[in-house]
Amino acid sequence: MEKTKCLIIGSGPAGYTAAIYAARADLKPIIYEGIQPGGQLTTTTEVDNFPGYPEGIDGPAMMEDLKKQATRFGTDVRWGIITEVDTSKRPFIVKADDGIEIEAETLIISTGATAKYLGLESEEKFKGGGVSACATCDGFFYKGKDVAVVGGGDTAAEEATYLANMCRKVYLIHRRDELRASKAMQHRVFNTPNIEILWNHEVKEIVGVEEGFNKALNGAMLVNNKTGEEKKIDIEGFFVAIGHTPNTELFRNKLRMDDTGYLITKPDSTATSVPGIFAAGDVQDKYFRQAVTAAGTGCMAAMESERYLGEQI
Ligand code: NAP
Repeated sequence: MEKTKCLIIGSGPAGYTAAIYAARADLKPIIYEGIQPGGQLTTTTEVDNFPGYPEGIDGPAMMEDLKKQATRFGTDVRWGIITEVDTSKRPFIVKADDGIEIEAETLIISTGATAKYLGLESEEKFKGGGVSACATCDGFFYKGKDVAVVGGGDTAAEEATYLANMCRKVYLIHRRDELRASKAMQHRVFNTPNIEILWNHEVKEIVGVEEGFNKALNGAMLVNNKTGEEKKIDIEGFFVAIGHTPNTELFRNKLRMDDTGYLITKPDSTATSVPGIFAAGDVQDKYFRQAVTAAGTGCMAAMESERYLGEQI
């Protein structure tokens, strides 16, 4: 069985920052990149609010930079997924999907969060055939076409403005009569002429044609939740931007979570309910969820791991 002082699970800004700090503290960290190497930022285009990039930077390029910085100090970066974690005793026993077992003296959980879907059967049917939760990944396929984004937060506003650059028309479908997005993002939406906001609307169904494996979405049935009036919009792409779920299934009944599944950490700390296990980034943060705050907590987790190991001697 392999041994490590510090095992990091997940490779977004939290995980890589933890790796940079842990490696520089000579903890010789191992990081498992997880299902989406680089995390959610690899599905973003321009990141304008991460300090140090005055001209902005592409999300994937920024994550590549973080990875390079982590490996420069000797982090062992592995492409793979952690499938089991025994948190009942130290060192913690962790299994990866390639069958490798590792004894880790400390764990840093930075598994992030995953996009939510509406839960409609028709939405499921057209996933990969018109339904997407990532405009940056899939917007390209809808150049010159009409699409819709559902949601009223920063993600929905960002996706709508991103799509408006390449699509003919973007409907922004929101269930209320005001956006939750920041004022700056709202301003961008309101000033983009090819975005039409459909206030107080909910999606009843996604419609399209299906022939064997070929699926082509051609519209969405909406209902106005104030008037009950129904209407169909003609669209070829449907982007869901209604928030995220923390990736904490692996830790259910092992670490303390809130009722929405976010890991609970001690105030002013990344310590979870089990000594020696720390959580950083979106997996423990439902308020800020920014790359820079994730990186900040990644730094804290590595420093707390080092301190914790020092206290065990
Ligand atoms: P969010 O702020 O939780 O917003 C989710 C939106 O989806 C809300 O408008 C919500 O409606 C709507 N919604 C939720 N469930 C729905 C359902 N079942 N049917 C229809 N609509 C539904 O999520 P987010 O936009 O992903 O943002 C998450 C966090 O990341 C926020 O703190 C945000 O500021 C941050 N963020 C920042 C940036 C940036 O700074 N560039 C970019 C993206 C995200 P209600 O409003 O009615 O609840």
